[in-house]
Amino acid sequence: MHHMTLAEIARGLADKKFSSEELTKTLLARIAQLDPQLNSFISLTEELAMSQAKAADARRANGETGALLGAPIAHKDLFCTQGIRTSCGSKMLDNFKAPYDATVVAKLAAAGTVTLGKTNMDEFAMGSANESSHYGAVKNPWNLAHVPGGSSGGSAAAVAARLLPAATATDTGGSIRQPAAFTNLTGLKPTYGRVSRWGMIAYASSLDQGGPLARTAEDCAILLQGMAGFDPNDSTSIDEPVPDYSASLNDSLQGLRIGVPKEYFGAGLDPRIADLVQNSIKELEKLGAIIKQISLPNMQHAIPAYYVIAPAEASSNLSRFDGVRFGYRCENPQNLVDLYKRSRGEGFGAEVQRRIMVGTYALSAGYYDAYYLKAQKIRRLVKNDFMAAFNEVDIILGPTTPNPAWKLGAKNSDPIAEYLEDVYTITANLAGLPGLSMPAGFVDGLPVGVQLLAPYFQEGRLLNVAHQYQLNTDWHTRTPTGF
Ligand code: GLN
Repeated sequence: MHHMTLAEIARGLADKKFSSEELTKTLLARIAQLDPQLNSFISLTEELAMSQAKAADARRANGETGALLGAPIAHKDLFCTQGIRTSCGSKMLDNFKAPYDATVVAKLAAAGTVTLGKTNMDEFAMGSANESSHYGAVKNPWNLAHVPGGSSGGSAAAVAARLLPAATATDTGGSIRQPAAFTNLTGLKPTYGRVSRWGMIAYASSLDQGGPLARTAEDCAILLQGMAGFDPNDSTSIDEPVPDYSASLNDSLQGLRIGVPKEYFGAGLDPRIADLVQNSIKELEKLGAIIKQISLPNMQHAIPAYYVIAPAEASSNLSRFDGVRFGYRCENPQNLVDLYKRSRGEGFGAEVQRRIMVGTYALSAGYYDAYYLKAQKIRRLVKNDFMAAFNEVDIILGPTTPNPAWKLGAKNSDPIAEYLEDVYTITANLAGLPGLSMPAGFVDGLPVGVQLLAPYFQEGRLLNVAHQYQLNTDWHTRTPTGF
Protein backbone atom coordinates (compact mmCIF):
# COMPACT_ATOMS: atom_id res chain seq x y z
CA MET A 1 0.00 0.00 0.00
CA HIS A 2 2.89 2.36 0.81
CA HIS A 3 4.02 2.55 -2.83
CA MET A 4 0.85 4.28 -3.95
CA THR A 5 0.84 7.86 -5.16
CA LEU A 6 -1.83 10.35 -4.09
CA ALA A 7 -3.61 9.77 -7.42
CA GLU A 8 -3.61 5.99 -6.88
CA ILE A 9 -4.79 6.41 -3.30
CA ALA A 10 -7.67 8.61 -4.46
CA ARG A 11 -8.73 5.94 -6.98
CA GLY A 12 -8.36 3.13 -4.42
CA LEU A 13 -10.45 5.00 -1.85
CA ALA A 14 -13.10 5.86 -4.42
CA ASP A 15 -13.26 2.20 -5.54
CA LYS A 16 -13.45 1.06 -1.88
CA LYS A 17 -10.32 -1.10 -2.30
CA PHE A 18 -9.24 0.03 1.18
CA SER A 19 -10.25 2.65 3.71
CA SER A 20 -8.32 5.70 4.81
CA GLU A 21 -8.22 4.16 8.28
CA GLU A 22 -6.46 1.02 6.94
CA LEU A 23 -4.04 3.05 4.90
CA THR A 24 -3.27 5.40 7.81
CA LYS A 25 -2.57 2.45 10.14
CA THR A 26 -0.26 0.88 7.57
CA LEU A 27 1.72 4.08 7.07
CA LEU A 28 1.97 4.83 10.81
CA ALA A 29 3.38 1.33 11.36
CA ARG A 30 5.83 1.86 8.51
CA ILE A 31 6.97 5.17 10.00
CA ALA A 32 7.49 3.52 13.41
CA GLN A 33 9.54 0.79 11.76
CA LEU A 34 11.67 2.79 9.33
CA ASP A 35 11.90 6.39 10.46
CA PRO A 36 14.53 5.73 13.17
CA GLN A 37 16.99 5.33 10.25
CA LEU A 38 15.99 8.64 8.69
CA ASN A 39 14.86 10.98 11.51
CA SER A 40 12.40 12.60 9.13
CA PHE A 41 9.71 13.36 11.72
CA ILE A 42 9.86 15.72 14.70
CA SER A 43 6.38 14.81 15.96
CA LEU A 44 3.92 12.08 15.09
CA THR A 45 0.21 12.80 15.42
CA GLU A 46 -1.22 9.27 15.51
CA GLU A 47 -4.44 10.11 17.36
CA LEU A 48 -5.25 13.06 15.13
CA ALA A 49 -4.44 10.92 12.08
CA MET A 50 -6.76 8.10 13.11
CA SER A 51 -9.63 10.45 13.89
CA GLN A 52 -9.16 12.36 10.60
CA ALA A 53 -9.01 9.04 8.71
CA LYS A 54 -12.26 7.86 10.30
CA ALA A 55 -13.91 11.18 9.53
CA ALA A 56 -12.73 11.00 5.91
CA ASP A 57 -14.09 7.46 5.54
CA ALA A 58 -17.42 8.64 6.94
CA ARG A 59 -17.52 11.54 4.48
CA ARG A 60 -16.84 9.14 1.58
CA ALA A 61 -19.54 6.78 2.87
CA ASN A 62 -21.90 9.77 2.70
CA GLY A 63 -21.14 10.18 -0.98
CA GLU A 64 -18.52 12.92 -0.76
CA THR A 65 -15.60 12.71 -3.20
CA GLY A 66 -12.33 14.56 -3.63
CA ALA A 67 -8.75 13.69 -4.51
CA LEU A 68 -7.51 14.57 -1.03
CA LEU A 69 -10.36 13.05 0.99
CA GLY A 70 -8.62 10.50 3.22
CA ALA A 71 -5.13 11.13 1.83
CA PRO A 72 -2.32 10.80 4.40
CA ILE A 73 0.21 13.64 4.40
CA ALA A 74 2.54 15.42 6.83
CA HIS A 75 3.37 19.07 7.38
CA LYS A 76 6.79 20.64 7.58
CA ASP A 77 7.15 21.67 11.20
CA LEU A 78 6.89 25.38 10.49
CA PHE A 79 3.20 25.26 9.57
CA CYS A 80 1.25 26.08 12.72
CA THR A 81 -0.94 23.19 13.86
CA GLN A 82 -3.44 23.97 16.58
CA GLY A 83 -2.61 22.30 19.90
CA ILE A 84 0.34 20.46 18.34
CA ARG A 85 4.01 21.31 18.80
CA THR A 86 5.25 23.55 15.99
CA SER A 87 8.99 23.67 16.57
CA CYS A 88 10.44 25.09 13.34
CA GLY A 89 13.33 22.72 14.02
CA SER A 90 14.47 24.91 16.91
CA LYS A 91 15.04 24.55 20.63
CA MET A 92 13.50 28.02 20.76
CA LEU A 93 10.08 26.58 19.88
CA ASP A 94 10.49 23.07 21.32
CA ASN A 95 7.72 23.84 23.84
CA PHE A 96 5.49 25.81 21.46
CA LYS A 97 2.03 24.46 20.71
CA ALA A 98 0.45 26.64 18.07
CA PRO A 99 -2.86 28.23 19.13
CA TYR A 100 -4.26 28.05 15.58
CA ASP A 101 -3.86 26.24 12.25
CA ALA A 102 -1.96 27.80 9.35
CA THR A 103 -4.23 28.51 6.38
CA VAL A 104 -2.51 25.72 4.42
CA VAL A 105 -3.14 23.26 7.26
CA ALA A 106 -6.78 24.33 7.62
CA LYS A 107 -7.44 24.17 3.85
CA LEU A 108 -5.90 20.72 3.52
CA ALA A 109 -7.76 19.44 6.59
CA ALA A 110 -11.03 20.74 5.12
CA ALA A 111 -10.22 18.86 1.90
CA GLY A 112 -9.99 15.71 4.01
CA THR A 113 -6.24 15.08 4.37
CA VAL A 114 -4.97 13.01 7.26
CA THR A 115 -2.01 14.50 9.15
CA LEU A 116 0.48 11.80 10.15
CA GLY A 117 2.90 14.21 11.78
CA LYS A 118 5.26 17.16 11.54
CA THR A 119 8.45 16.75 9.55
CA ASN A 120 12.01 17.60 10.45
CA MET A 121 13.64 20.68 8.92
CA ASP A 122 16.64 22.95 9.21
CA GLU A 123 16.27 25.32 12.15
CA PHE A 124 13.98 28.18 11.03
CA ALA A 125 14.35 26.82 7.46
CA MET A 126 17.95 28.01 7.22
CA GLY A 127 20.07 25.47 5.41
CA SER A 128 20.49 23.22 2.40
CA ALA A 129 21.27 19.95 4.18
CA ASN A 130 18.84 19.54 7.07
CA GLU A 131 21.75 19.33 9.47
CA SER A 132 20.92 22.46 11.50
CA SER A 133 17.79 21.00 13.15
CA HIS A 134 17.67 20.95 16.94
CA TYR A 135 16.24 17.43 16.51
CA GLY A 136 19.27 16.13 14.64
CA ALA A 137 20.16 15.66 10.98
CA VAL A 138 17.87 13.88 8.52
CA LYS A 139 19.39 11.09 6.42
CA ASN A 140 18.92 10.59 2.70
CA PRO A 141 17.09 7.30 2.01
CA TRP A 142 19.16 6.84 -1.16
CA ASN A 143 22.31 6.70 0.93
CA LEU A 144 22.10 7.10 4.69
CA ALA A 145 25.58 8.66 4.81
CA HIS A 146 24.36 11.59 2.68
CA VAL A 147 22.18 14.63 3.39
CA PRO A 148 18.62 14.75 2.01
CA GLY A 149 18.89 18.46 1.18
CA GLY A 150 17.24 21.24 3.10
CA SER A 151 15.53 22.92 4.60
CA SER A 152 12.53 20.62 3.91
CA GLY A 153 14.71 17.51 4.33
CA GLY A 154 12.26 15.71 6.62
CA SER A 155 9.34 16.03 4.21
CA ALA A 156 11.59 14.91 1.34
CA ALA A 157 13.19 11.92 3.08
CA ALA A 158 9.81 10.68 4.35
CA VAL A 159 8.13 10.87 0.93
CA ALA A 160 11.15 9.38 -0.89
CA ALA A 161 11.25 6.46 1.58
CA ARG A 162 7.55 5.76 0.92
CA LEU A 163 6.56 6.56 4.51
CA LEU A 164 3.76 8.64 3.00
CA PRO A 165 2.77 9.81 -0.49
CA ALA A 166 3.27 13.57 -0.16
CA ALA A 167 4.03 16.38 2.28
CA THR A 168 3.93 20.13 2.55
CA ALA A 169 7.18 22.09 2.42
CA THR A 170 8.40 25.65 2.00
CA ASP A 171 10.92 27.28 -0.29
CA THR A 172 12.74 30.54 0.53
CA GLY A 173 15.79 29.90 -1.64
CA GLY A 174 15.26 26.34 -2.85
CA SER A 175 14.03 24.33 0.13
CA ILE A 176 11.36 22.48 -1.85
CA ARG A 177 13.25 22.01 -5.14
CA GLN A 178 16.70 21.15 -3.76
CA PRO A 179 15.59 18.34 -1.38
CA ALA A 180 13.31 17.11 -4.18
CA ALA A 181 16.38 16.84 -6.43
CA PHE A 182 18.44 15.11 -3.72
CA THR A 183 15.79 12.46 -2.98
CA ASN A 184 14.26 11.79 -6.44
CA LEU A 185 11.00 13.67 -5.85
CA THR A 186 8.95 16.23 -7.70
CA GLY A 187 8.66 19.51 -5.78
CA LEU A 188 6.96 22.75 -6.72
CA LYS A 189 7.60 26.25 -5.40
CA PRO A 190 4.58 28.31 -6.42
CA THR A 191 4.52 31.96 -7.49
CA TYR A 192 5.05 34.25 -4.49
CA GLY A 193 1.55 35.00 -3.15
CA ARG A 194 -0.11 31.89 -4.64
CA VAL A 195 -0.11 29.95 -1.32
CA SER A 196 -0.96 31.70 1.94
CA ARG A 197 1.88 32.35 4.37
CA TRP A 198 -0.52 32.86 7.27
CA GLY A 199 0.55 30.57 10.09
CA MET A 200 3.76 29.64 8.32
CA ILE A 201 6.57 30.66 10.67
CA ALA A 202 8.49 33.35 8.79
CA TYR A 203 12.10 33.08 7.73
CA ALA A 204 12.39 35.74 4.98
CA SER A 205 8.90 37.05 4.32
CA SER A 206 9.44 38.42 0.82
CA LEU A 207 10.86 35.08 -0.37
CA ASP A 208 9.01 32.36 1.62
CA GLN A 209 6.44 30.27 -0.21
CA GLY A 210 4.75 26.99 0.70
CA GLY A 211 4.28 24.19 -1.81
CA PRO A 212 3.98 20.43 -2.37
CA LEU A 213 6.62 17.68 -2.29
CA ALA A 214 5.52 14.41 -3.87
CA ARG A 215 6.77 11.67 -6.15
CA THR A 216 5.01 12.81 -9.32
CA ALA A 217 3.88 16.01 -11.01
CA GLU A 218 0.36 14.58 -10.99
CA ASP A 219 0.49 14.41 -7.17
CA CYS A 220 1.98 17.90 -6.89
CA ALA A 221 -1.03 19.13 -8.89
CA ILE A 222 -3.41 17.44 -6.45
CA LEU A 223 -1.69 18.77 -3.34
CA LEU A 224 -1.19 22.28 -4.73
CA GLN A 225 -4.89 22.40 -5.56
CA GLY A 226 -5.61 22.01 -1.86
CA MET A 227 -3.02 24.59 -0.76
CA ALA A 228 -3.41 27.46 -3.24
CA GLY A 229 -5.78 30.41 -3.13
CA PHE A 230 -6.33 33.93 -1.88
CA ASP A 231 -6.20 34.46 1.87
CA PRO A 232 -7.29 37.79 3.36
CA ASN A 233 -5.15 36.98 6.42
CA ASP A 234 -1.97 37.21 4.34
CA SER A 235 -1.37 40.72 3.00
CA THR A 236 0.89 39.39 0.21
CA SER A 237 -1.56 36.71 -0.90
CA ILE A 238 -2.73 37.39 -4.46
CA ASP A 239 -6.39 37.37 -5.42
CA GLU A 240 -6.16 35.39 -8.65
CA PRO A 241 -8.43 32.47 -9.51
CA VAL A 242 -6.85 29.04 -8.94
CA PRO A 243 -6.94 26.98 -12.15
CA ASP A 244 -7.63 23.24 -12.19
CA TYR A 245 -4.02 22.01 -12.13
CA SER A 246 -4.90 18.41 -12.98
CA ALA A 247 -6.90 19.48 -16.06
CA SER A 248 -3.85 20.82 -17.93
CA LEU A 249 -1.47 17.92 -17.18
CA ASN A 250 -2.07 16.33 -20.57
CA ASP A 251 -1.75 19.43 -22.75
CA SER A 252 0.54 18.87 -25.74
CA LEU A 253 4.11 20.18 -25.59
CA GLN A 254 4.13 20.73 -29.35
CA GLY A 255 5.78 24.07 -30.03
CA LEU A 256 6.59 24.77 -26.36
CA ARG A 257 9.61 27.08 -26.29
CA ILE A 258 12.17 25.99 -23.69
CA GLY A 259 14.98 28.38 -22.82
CA VAL A 260 18.29 27.03 -21.59
CA PRO A 261 20.44 29.76 -19.99
CA LYS A 262 24.06 29.60 -21.06
CA GLU A 263 25.15 30.80 -17.60
CA TYR A 264 23.85 27.54 -16.08
CA PHE A 265 26.67 25.49 -17.57
CA GLY A 266 29.66 27.17 -15.93
CA ALA A 267 32.57 25.68 -14.03
CA GLY A 268 30.73 24.83 -10.80
CA LEU A 269 28.38 22.30 -12.42
CA ASP A 270 29.15 18.58 -12.10
CA PRO A 271 29.58 17.50 -15.78
CA ARG A 272 27.58 14.33 -15.11
CA ILE A 273 24.62 16.48 -14.06
CA ALA A 274 25.11 18.61 -17.19
CA ASP A 275 24.80 15.41 -19.26
CA LEU A 276 21.58 14.39 -17.52
CA VAL A 277 20.15 17.86 -18.15
CA GLN A 278 20.98 17.46 -21.85
CA ASN A 279 19.20 14.09 -21.86
CA SER A 280 16.07 15.67 -20.37
CA ILE A 281 16.21 18.34 -23.07
CA LYS A 282 16.34 15.66 -25.78
CA GLU A 283 13.38 13.89 -24.19
CA LEU A 284 11.32 17.10 -24.25
CA GLU A 285 12.37 17.80 -27.85
CA LYS A 286 10.93 14.40 -28.80
CA LEU A 287 7.65 15.60 -27.29
CA GLY A 288 7.63 18.62 -29.58
CA ALA A 289 9.42 21.28 -27.55
CA ILE A 290 11.69 23.81 -29.24
CA ILE A 291 14.98 24.56 -27.46
CA LYS A 292 16.52 28.05 -27.46
CA GLN A 293 19.67 29.26 -25.77
CA ILE A 294 18.99 32.28 -23.56
CA SER A 295 20.99 34.42 -21.15
CA LEU A 296 20.42 35.45 -17.52
CA PRO A 297 23.36 37.83 -17.22
CA ASN A 298 22.85 38.83 -13.58
CA MET A 299 22.64 35.31 -12.22
CA GLN A 300 26.18 35.50 -10.83
CA HIS A 301 25.10 38.24 -8.39
CA ALA A 302 22.12 36.34 -7.02
CA ILE A 303 23.80 34.39 -4.21
CA PRO A 304 25.43 37.42 -2.57
CA ALA A 305 22.16 39.38 -2.90
CA TYR A 306 20.08 36.54 -1.44
CA TYR A 307 22.47 36.03 1.46
CA VAL A 308 22.02 39.70 2.39
CA ILE A 309 18.24 39.96 1.89
CA ALA A 310 17.26 36.65 3.52
CA PRO A 311 19.33 37.20 6.70
CA ALA A 312 18.14 40.84 6.86
CA GLU A 313 14.50 39.75 6.86
CA ALA A 314 15.29 36.87 9.20
CA SER A 315 16.95 39.17 11.73
CA SER A 316 13.76 41.21 11.83
CA ASN A 317 11.36 38.23 11.88
CA LEU A 318 13.27 36.41 14.59
CA SER A 319 13.40 39.40 16.92
CA ARG A 320 10.01 38.26 18.26
CA PHE A 321 11.66 35.27 19.94
CA ASP A 322 12.87 37.05 23.05
CA GLY A 323 11.95 34.71 25.90
CA VAL A 324 9.01 36.90 26.92
CA ARG A 325 5.89 35.93 25.00
CA PHE A 326 6.49 32.39 23.79
CA GLY A 327 9.19 29.86 23.18
CA TYR A 328 12.32 29.12 25.16
CA ARG A 329 13.12 31.15 28.28
CA CYS A 330 16.48 30.87 30.07
CA GLU A 331 16.65 29.80 33.72
CA ASN A 332 16.79 32.50 36.42
CA PRO A 333 17.24 35.65 34.36
CA GLN A 334 18.94 38.39 36.38
CA ASN A 335 17.27 41.26 34.51
CA LEU A 336 15.52 41.97 31.21
CA VAL A 337 18.69 42.23 29.13
CA ASP A 338 19.99 39.00 30.63
CA LEU A 339 16.65 37.36 29.78
CA TYR A 340 16.88 38.44 26.14
CA LYS A 341 20.53 37.56 25.75
CA ARG A 342 20.50 34.16 27.32
CA SER A 343 17.10 33.08 25.94
CA ARG A 344 18.26 33.89 22.40
CA GLY A 345 21.82 32.66 22.94
CA GLU A 346 20.62 29.33 24.32
CA GLY A 347 17.47 28.92 22.19
CA PHE A 348 18.94 29.54 18.72
CA GLY A 349 21.54 27.31 17.07
CA ALA A 350 24.75 28.44 15.41
CA GLU A 351 23.46 28.92 11.84
CA VAL A 352 20.46 30.95 13.00
CA GLN A 353 22.69 33.14 15.15
CA ARG A 354 25.05 33.65 12.21
CA ARG A 355 22.16 34.80 9.99
CA ILE A 356 20.80 37.15 12.66
CA MET A 357 24.26 38.73 13.01
CA VAL A 358 24.70 39.09 9.23
CA GLY A 359 21.19 40.48 8.80
CA THR A 360 21.44 42.95 11.66
CA TYR A 361 24.77 44.16 10.31
CA ALA A 362 23.40 44.59 6.78
CA LEU A 363 20.49 46.65 8.08
CA SER A 364 22.45 48.83 10.49
CA ALA A 365 22.95 52.57 9.91
CA GLY A 366 25.94 53.15 7.65
CA TYR A 367 25.79 49.69 6.06
CA TYR A 368 22.18 49.67 4.88
CA ASP A 369 22.98 51.45 1.60
CA ALA A 370 26.11 49.43 0.93
CA TYR A 371 24.53 46.01 1.47
CA TYR A 372 20.75 45.87 1.80
CA LEU A 373 19.91 48.54 -0.76
CA LYS A 374 22.49 47.18 -3.20
CA ALA A 375 21.08 43.68 -2.79
CA GLN A 376 17.57 44.97 -3.55
CA LYS A 377 18.88 46.55 -6.75
CA ILE A 378 20.41 43.24 -7.79
CA ARG A 379 17.10 41.60 -7.01
CA ARG A 380 15.42 43.85 -9.56
CA LEU A 381 18.09 43.07 -12.18
CA VAL A 382 17.55 39.34 -11.63
CA LYS A 383 13.82 39.81 -12.13
CA ASN A 384 14.40 41.91 -15.27
CA ASP A 385 16.57 39.13 -16.74
CA PHE A 386 13.68 36.70 -16.32
CA MET A 387 11.12 39.11 -17.75
CA ALA A 388 13.29 39.53 -20.85
CA ALA A 389 13.80 35.77 -21.16
CA PHE A 390 10.08 35.03 -20.86
CA ASN A 391 9.44 37.31 -23.85
CA GLU A 392 11.21 34.65 -25.91
CA VAL A 393 10.45 31.34 -24.18
CA ASP A 394 7.65 29.65 -22.24
CA ILE A 395 9.79 27.67 -19.77
CA ILE A 396 13.38 27.90 -18.54
CA LEU A 397 15.17 24.60 -17.95
CA GLY A 398 18.41 23.71 -16.17
CA PRO A 399 19.90 21.74 -13.31
CA THR A 400 18.29 22.10 -9.87
CA THR A 401 21.62 21.78 -8.09
CA PRO A 402 25.26 21.90 -9.21
CA ASN A 403 26.12 18.69 -7.33
CA PRO A 404 24.30 15.63 -5.99
CA ALA A 405 23.67 15.22 -2.24
CA TRP A 406 26.91 15.56 -0.28
CA LYS A 407 28.02 13.49 2.69
CA LEU A 408 26.66 14.37 6.13
CA GLY A 409 29.03 16.82 7.78
CA ALA A 410 30.97 17.55 4.58
CA LYS A 411 30.15 21.27 4.53
CA ASN A 412 29.72 21.91 8.26
CA SER A 413 32.94 23.87 8.64
CA ASP A 414 32.28 26.08 5.60
CA PRO A 415 28.83 27.69 5.50
CA ILE A 416 29.63 29.57 2.29
CA ALA A 417 30.32 26.30 0.45
CA GLU A 418 26.78 25.27 1.38
CA TYR A 419 25.32 28.64 0.29
CA LEU A 420 26.90 28.19 -3.15
CA GLU A 421 24.86 25.02 -3.71
CA ASP A 422 21.74 27.23 -3.96
CA VAL A 423 22.96 28.90 -7.15
CA TYR A 424 20.18 27.59 -9.43
CA THR A 425 17.24 27.84 -7.06
CA ILE A 426 17.44 31.23 -5.34
CA THR A 427 16.86 33.36 -8.44
CA ALA A 428 13.24 32.17 -8.64
CA ASN A 429 12.65 33.36 -5.06
CA LEU A 430 14.31 36.71 -5.71
CA ALA A 431 11.99 37.19 -8.71
CA GLY A 432 8.92 35.55 -7.10
CA LEU A 433 8.58 33.05 -9.96
CA PRO A 434 7.26 29.49 -9.79
CA GLY A 435 9.75 26.64 -10.12
CA LEU A 436 9.64 22.86 -10.14
CA SER A 437 12.27 20.14 -9.75
CA MET A 438 11.73 16.70 -11.28
CA PRO A 439 13.80 13.50 -11.18
CA ALA A 440 16.13 13.20 -14.18
CA GLY A 441 18.66 10.46 -13.44
CA PHE A 442 21.37 9.36 -11.03
CA VAL A 443 25.04 10.04 -10.36
CA ASP A 444 26.87 7.52 -8.15
CA GLY A 445 23.50 6.14 -7.04
CA LEU A 446 22.29 9.58 -5.94
CA PRO A 447 19.30 11.29 -7.59
CA VAL A 448 19.63 14.34 -9.84
CA GLY A 449 16.91 16.93 -10.48
CA VAL A 450 16.08 19.10 -13.45
CA GLN A 451 14.52 22.47 -12.68
CA LEU A 452 11.80 24.16 -14.72
CA LEU A 453 10.88 27.83 -14.21
CA ALA A 454 7.81 29.56 -15.62
CA PRO A 455 6.24 33.04 -15.71
CA TYR A 456 4.08 34.19 -12.79
CA PHE A 457 1.08 31.95 -12.05
CA GLN A 458 2.07 29.38 -14.67
CA GLU A 459 2.29 26.51 -12.14
CA GLY A 460 -0.02 24.57 -14.47
CA ARG A 461 2.52 24.81 -17.29
CA LEU A 462 5.31 23.48 -15.03
CA LEU A 463 3.15 20.57 -13.92
CA ASN A 464 2.10 19.87 -17.50
CA VAL A 465 5.71 19.69 -18.75
CA ALA A 466 6.85 17.56 -15.80
CA HIS A 467 3.88 15.21 -16.17
CA GLN A 468 4.53 14.69 -19.88
CA TYR A 469 8.19 14.05 -19.10
CA GLN A 470 7.19 11.53 -16.43
CA LEU A 471 4.86 9.71 -18.84
CA ASN A 472 7.93 9.13 -21.02
CA THR A 473 10.63 8.44 -18.43
CA ASP A 474 10.77 6.29 -15.30
CA TRP A 475 13.29 8.09 -13.06
CA HIS A 476 10.53 9.22 -10.71
CA THR A 477 9.41 5.59 -10.15
CA ARG A 478 12.80 4.43 -8.80
CA THR A 479 12.72 3.46 -5.14
CA PRO A 480 15.62 3.63 -2.68
CA THR A 481 16.87 0.19 -1.59
CA GLY A 482 15.60 -0.80 1.82
CA PHE A 483 12.48 1.35 1.55
N1 GLN B 1 19.45 27.19 1.55
C1 GLN B 1 18.75 28.44 1.58
C2 GLN B 1 18.97 29.14 2.90
O1 GLN B 1 19.54 28.54 3.78
C3 GLN B 1 17.29 28.26 1.31
C4 GLN B 1 16.53 27.74 2.46
C5 GLN B 1 15.04 27.74 2.19
O2 GLN B 1 14.60 27.77 1.05
N2 GLN B 1 14.29 27.75 3.27
O3 GLN B 1 18.59 30.26 3.08
